[in-house]
Amino acid sequence: MLNERMVGLGTQRSVIRELFEFGKMRAAEVGAENVFDFSIGNPSVAAPDCVNETAMRLIKELDPVVLHGYTSAQGDAGVRALIADSLNRRFQTAFRPENLYITVGAAAALCCCLNGICCPGMGDEVIVFAPYFPEYKVFIEGAGANMTLIPADVEAFQIDFAALEASLNEHTKAVIVNSPNNPCGAVYSEETVKKLAVVLESYSAKFGHPIYLISDEPYREIVYDNTVVPFLPNYYKDTLVCYSWSKSLSLPGERLGYVLVPDSVTDASLVYAAVAGAGRSLGYVNAPSLFQRVCAECANETADISIYETNRNLLVEGLRRMGYHVVAPQGTFYLFPRTLIADDVSFCEKAKDFNLLIVPGTGFGCPGHARISFCVPTERVERSLKAFEELAKFYLG
Ligand code: PLP
Repeated sequence: MLNERMVGLGTQRSVIRELFEFGKMRAAEVGAENVFDFSIGNPSVAAPDCVNETAMRLIKELDPVVLHGYTSAQGDAGVRALIADSLNRRFQTAFRPENLYITVGAAAALCCCLNGICCPGMGDEVIVFAPYFPEYKVFIEGAGANMTLIPADVEAFQIDFAALEASLNEHTKAVIVNSPNNPCGAVYSEETVKKLAVVLESYSAKFGHPIYLISDEPYREIVYDNTVVPFLPNYYKDTLVCYSWSKSLSLPGERLGYVLVPDSVTDASLVYAAVAGAGRSLGYVNAPSLFQRVCAECANETADISIYETNRNLLVEGLRRMGYHVVAPQGTFYLFPRTLIADDVSFCEKAKDFNLLIVPGTGFGCPGHARISFCVPTERVERSLKAFEELAKFYLG
């Protein structure tokens, strides 16, 4: 007998992957240039020069036995020191290498945190705000906890605090936030963050145990219009940060990220041990050695996001002109307009007739919307506008 849950997870293709496959099929029929694939969040700009330069220098200069050898399970100490320095310089903090656990991307960072803090069979709950990254449900359930979904504030994509307070209870182990957000691009304001900290502090005191705030922030540096992303450990002491260089350095295939467990976290050294223990139990120890070093040396760099900004402006202005309701994303490379009919799944199906591949909001816990992933060449965005217009005309006349 096999593990049915795993068979299910391994068999069902995600809606995004289905669309991606459909796109390839469609391209064979009508030509790749006529298919406007906005399905996947794969960065379309190259990694900054320092990435390849550093990788080549390390390959040339470092003893290969060291370069390709095992590092400490939690990541090379020198690597963790460089990352701590970078964070301290940018966020006026005082982290040490001992606060960092290097992982294979944000996905593993989230799994290490969730498996480290959740107790299977104890009815633990983890709160998530819609719209949310669908893998959260897989990760939370994989850690033996249940996901509680807070409906979206579709006006500004901040937090519906009344709904949050109604959901907090003695089983709440953690709250996951993702700002800048996939799929809507919203960044939580400082006001939202301060209010969230007050609410979590008060409920942690009420229930007599910390409610951890897991900040999933792979898009931290991808922001526009000088938007400031509040650094959550500076606002709430029980914050665990899950970071990744997949988007900021355009390195999704290299699989590098980290968990940050600040000293301010209640029983910080035990929590760090639990994160490390989860990494061990999941077999995630020792993230790739060469790219640990590359990412640490390039930790102050970001890929050139000007193309994303151009694409964002073209889409926001273009779609609004056509009658779509769009909250302009302050960050990420996603746009999350309202669909022109309530049924977002039918809407995205119809969009395929115009060779537009966009993802229904339902999968992100936010029906009535669709995600447009605009990490694509600007030329594709420009040429797609006509298709968005035809789609709008179909519904609005
Ligand atoms: N969290 C969010 C919100 C994401 O959008 C993604 C990837 O798209 C991840 C986590 C996983 O990131 P990684 O590729 O670093 O595992």
